[in-house]
Amino acid sequence: MALPTSLQLHIVSADRSLVHERVDEVEIPGADGYFGVLPGHTPLLATLGMGELWYRRGQAKTYVLLSFGFAEVQPDRVTILAEVAERPEDIDITRAEAARRRAEELLAKPSIDIDAEKARLALLRSLIRLQVATRARIRS
Ligand code: ATP
Repeated sequence: MALPTSLQLHIVSADRSLVHERVDEVEIPGADGYFGVLPGHTPLLATLGMGELWYRRGQAKTYVLLSFGFAEVQPDRVTILAEVAERPEDIDITRAEAARRRAEELLAKPSIDIDAEKARLALLRSLIRLQVATRARIRS
């Protein structure tokens, strides 16, 4: 049987379908680190971490923030079910900067009243949002 030459990528979050298109390559933020998928990849099921997914069609790369969920890989398709997924144009930079400042302030003066792990995740999410938002500015 001939190997597939492209991938059907579908990215769905809890409240909407963000991406449904044919692509050449995808890089996914797995819970254990980033991994790349090309057409013909071995089937796998992976849990997602928090990070920046990118996909490429020809030379054009598109970036999407993902926060937790699952990825299903088949030789001819990738399906992402994410708790949170945002394209660069969805991201409110002022809100992300405020979230980053809040998390940094909490982590700077640790006390038994704060959940440090929650603050670290909030900081990481805000930094990734700011990075993904910058991708849009570089592209345009
Ligand atoms: P905040 O502290 O600003 O609420 P958060 O990291 O706690 O941010 P999440 O729990 O990740 O927020 O997301 C809750 C909802 O708000 C999701 O639908 C997410 O897409 C949206 N959201 C959060 N921050 C932003 C942002 N900076 N720009 C656009 N949408 C955002």
